[in-house]
Amino acid sequence: MPNFTLDDSVFAEAARRFPTPFYLYDERGIRQAARDVKAAFAWNTGFRQFYAVKALPTPAILNLMLQEGSGLDCSSMTELLLARRIGARGEDIMFSANAMPVSELHFARELGAFINLDDISDVDRLILGGSVPQMVLLRVNPGKYGAQRQGVMGRSLDAKFGMLPTQALNALLKLKAQGMTAFGLHAMTDSNTLDIGYYISNARYLFELGAALMRQSGLPLALVNLSGGIGIPYLPEEDPVDLAAVSKGIQREYARVFSAREDIQLATELGRLITGPSGWLVARAIHKKEIWRNYVGLDASAADLMRPAMYGAYHHISVLGKRGAPTDKVYDVTGALCENNDKFAIQRRLPEIEIGDLLLIHDGGAHAHAMGYQYNGRLRCAEVLYTMEGGFRLIRRAQTPEDYFQTMVFD
Ligand SMILES: *Cc1c(COP(=O)(O)O)cnc(C)c1O
Repeated sequence: MPNFTLDDSVFAEAARRFPTPFYLYDERGIRQAARDVKAAFAWNTGFRQFYAVKALPTPAILNLMLQEGSGLDCSSMTELLLARRIGARGEDIMFSANAMPVSELHFARELGAFINLDDISDVDRLILGGSVPQMVLLRVNPGKYGAQRQGVMGRSLDAKFGMLPTQALNALLKLKAQGMTAFGLHAMTDSNTLDIGYYISNARYLFELGAALMRQSGLPLALVNLSGGIGIPYLPEEDPVDLAAVSKGIQREYARVFSAREDIQLATELGRLITGPSGWLVARAIHKKEIWRNYVGLDASAADLMRPAMYGAYHHISVLGKRGAPTDKVYDVTGALCENNDKFAIQRRLPEIEIGDLLLIHDGGAHAHAMGYQYNGRLRCAEVLYTMEGGFRLIRRAQTPEDYFQTMVFD
């Protein structure tokens, strides 16, 4: 079930203060989600969540994460620069990138970030940069032992991420020869899954591989990064993941594989689970059209939220002030792009919509504004934080045509 914790009056007030479209984020919900993750894994002494910056790379949100004790999971030079700029220290940063330029790897190393190597070839590239960190993580691709669901990521066997488990041993031996004294492991083979079995079996796989690699390399396993990928209930009939059950299942596997050891630190890199349900794209119906189908045109488009266009993803839509009204109309809800996949909803049952109505597109707190683009000269919209105190804070202004022209050469 999408998140209905904020009253319609909050959105209505926001829309009086800021021109639509914009994203509204609920500070309370975001903080609570970060606390829930921390509490669920409290049994692991060194546990730390690293928020996946790519999900919502806005300073005010990343600051909330740091305040809640999360680190930041970065995947590019720009994200590293952003993390540094908001005051994250090296130990607050996890760098998980693939096919990255060697300069990014070395910059992450200079910052003192945790380095998560995606491929065996990255070992030599890291060594080229000078001294190797005391601890390096390896991202593995479990192949047939990874997720087999044809989700957004495809099957592990087809996924570009991570190195072969057999390459991991060679990587460790090479790094050991360069002075590395402990290692970490990481794998992520599914995304947006509500199946708690996935996250537990991913952990089990990493624990067992870690135990084997410890024996084979003579190096201690210091950190297991369970990655991200826990899903959220986009559909009305879906329920949130039971985090306590996930954590308990992982604790059981941890105890089974590592019996006496308690010092192996766990990490997560959750993005969607933390901010996804606490963000809404607020847009206004500005057009209605009745041809072979009935269309409602919004002032937002796929340039603001591309998940429906890109993945056919479902985002729940509600119409402000019409929550209880009968959903006796069927609409395609569209944006203005010259692309027929610019539809937030296709043949969706909704209450009757009038021009001027405010629509909420739910679950827009992760991989939403962040995936925006400027096709058709549609500029990226603003982001507003609804604070704990009940105020509204503009945390990113809307782009202007001047921003759009800035990188163009006119003469
Ligand atoms: C995208 C990504 C995440 C976050 O994924 P969510 O689905 O938002 O939890 C974490 N780790 C890595 C390596 C990623 O690529």
